[in-house]
Amino acid sequence: MTETDVDAFDSVLEAIGGTPLIRLARVAPEAGAPVYVKAEFLNPGGSVKDRAALSMVLAAERSGELKPGGHIVEGTSGNTGIGLAIVAAQRGYRLTVVVPDKSSREKTLILQAYGAEVVVTPGAVPREDPAHVSQLARRIAEESGGWLANQYDNPANPAAHHEGTGPEIWRQTRGRVTHFVAGIGTGGTISGTGAYLKEASDGRVRVIGADPDHSVYSGGDGSPYFVESIGHYLHPDTAEDLWPESYHRGVPDVVEPIGDRESILTARRLAREEGLLLGASAGTAVAAALRLAATLTPDDLVVVVVPDSGRSYLSKYYDDEWLRGFGFLEDVEDEPTVAEAA
Ligand code: PMP
Repeated sequence: MTETDVDAFDSVLEAIGGTPLIRLARVAPEAGAPVYVKAEFLNPGGSVKDRAALSMVLAAERSGELKPGGHIVEGTSGNTGIGLAIVAAQRGYRLTVVVPDKSSREKTLILQAYGAEVVVTPGAVPREDPAHVSQLARRIAEESGGWLANQYDNPANPAAHHEGTGPEIWRQTRGRVTHFVAGIGTGGTISGTGAYLKEASDGRVRVIGADPDHSVYSGGDGSPYFVESIGHYLHPDTAEDLWPESYHRGVPDVVEPIGDRESILTARRLAREEGLLLGASAGTAVAAALRLAATLTPDDLVVVVVPDSGRSYLSKYYDDEWLRGFGFLEDVEDEPTVAEAA
């Protein structure tokens, strides 16, 4: 048997992307439009950010910024670090990830398991402080001659979705998608996918951003919210020029604010009623999609990105005590605790 006879990927990197669409069979409104989730938690690193990580590294290889055996640096507390760790391990790069000290121990351990170096820095310092995550990452890259991935301003981030996520959704729906919903972190997902779907449909597809209540992307005042990895909380007066270049503001037709409670309870419902264990940013996006679907007809077709799995958040959104502590479980009668149910 030769290698070509084996029905297999050449490496884990080929398993990035090509995620399924899954119809929400139980929580979608009966009379409205069908809703399909793009199951990004099924990527090898467990999130949509594997796509951006691979795309950014390949682009840096092509441009010569990253040489064989070179050093990749990024400041991130989350999924992009894991995506980069997978790509770095498989392609033989050194990786340093700068994380804020509020990051969970699990996240640090995952990065280290892939062989990444983790540098912990205080999270509660202003952007201008040299110890700030992005400042420190930049300095480490400069001093080591490394390459800073810089997902917030790297065009290869939205490009990953223009070349991957968008065409996949178009093919999977046979061009029938009418509405696309996604959260906005760096903006890569919504900008790349949304732009592709608009181009492919001659402008017919509507693109809806799902944003935590208070985030400035949907016109909020930048006050704090719970949902992680999406939204932007800088003061609107000063935030404009700090908005990521990966976010193309002309792409979404509208950006809807969704409250923490609705996001979290939607994520919990998806686990219990659809068997989909997802992060809170998926809850935000699906909540916006369900609201939208209720205003549409069965001839419409809504696709919503669910970026990562709920496994990373078991001790928060899926922990009744944690939720009660913040008042998110009040008045929820149909959610018995283990003790009540027993
Ligand atoms: N949800 C989760 C869990 C994420 O990690 C991210 C990436 N920050 C997003 C949503 C937003 O994706 P994007 O950066 O492409 O806007």
